[in-house]
Amino acid sequence: VDVGVDVGGTKVLAAVVGEDGTPLRTHSVPTPPKESGARRLEQTLADAVQAVAAGHPVGRVGVAAAAFVDSDRRRAMFAPHLAWRGEPAAERLEQLLGAPVLLENDATCAAWAEATAGAARGAGSSLTVTVGTGIGGGIVLGDRLLRGSNGMAGEFGHVTVVPDGIACPCGGRGCWERYVSGAALLAAAVARGARGVRTGDDVTGAALSGDEAALGAFTELGGWLGRGLAGLVAVLDPEVVVVGGGVGASGELLLGPARARLARDVVGHGHRRLPDLRAAHHGPEAGLLGAVALARRELR
Ligand SMILES: [Zn+2]
Repeated sequence: VDVGVDVGGTKVLAAVVGEDGTPLRTHSVPTPPKESGARRLEQTLADAVQAVAAGHPVGRVGVAAAAFVDSDRRRAMFAPHLAWRGEPAAERLEQLLGAPVLLENDATCAAWAEATAGAARGAGSSLTVTVGTGIGGGIVLGDRLLRGSNGMAGEFGHVTVVPDGIACPCGGRGCWERYVSGAALLAAAVARGARGVRTGDDVTGAALSGDEAALGAFTELGGWLGRGLAGLVAVLDPEVVVVGGGVGASGELLLGPARARLARDVVGHGHRRLPDLRAAHHGPEAGLLGAVALARRELR
């Protein structure tokens, strides 16, 4: 069986992926703390793969990681929330599993899943933006995934949208993801006087029940999303823009204001066809599904 694994800062999600590209069985475990080291993380991944394979021989493995991955898809160069610092993760996992492994950035994998078997299927070009703890994403042109010379393309979250703006853990200031994330949504709702909200999901719930402060927070967040997308659309002119991730799952609450702002801010507005802004088709499995699709394409 082919297995996909999504490695995030808090949990590891593994799934057996059927020939039709759908997850058949899933298995989830907490991500070991960063301090426990790379070997422990790799062992946790290998154990999760074996657990979900449930005794069936493991075929190809696609790992979607919240990490910068090198251009050969073998090494995890850096990950803010994981122990990898240049480790040959794919090789070590192959030793543990006795099966070929492909490693790729999680948002890049999600972009591939949306482009080939999701919301942007059939589009000539697409941009996928995942909004959650931060902003990730990927670019697919035709049947080609744009990876960049380092394999680090698509890190949209750290494009500066506000000069000297809010400080970012990356070391920069005014990065786009400081203004569009679960934490930004919560902060915007609290600043507007929303009560009893503690997470981004709470804000979504309040907005769906008509809470003015929560709706205002979505308008603000969607505005920032549209503002950043206007820059990306000016550069890439994609046919479709897919918005996914935990915050992206709030759908039109976020996409409505983003669409309006994009239409107003993009260069040549009023004289160009705007990209179709769509909610992602895949949920939390997007990354691992894309990783398996890439593994099937690249690993023989
Ligand atoms: Zn940043």
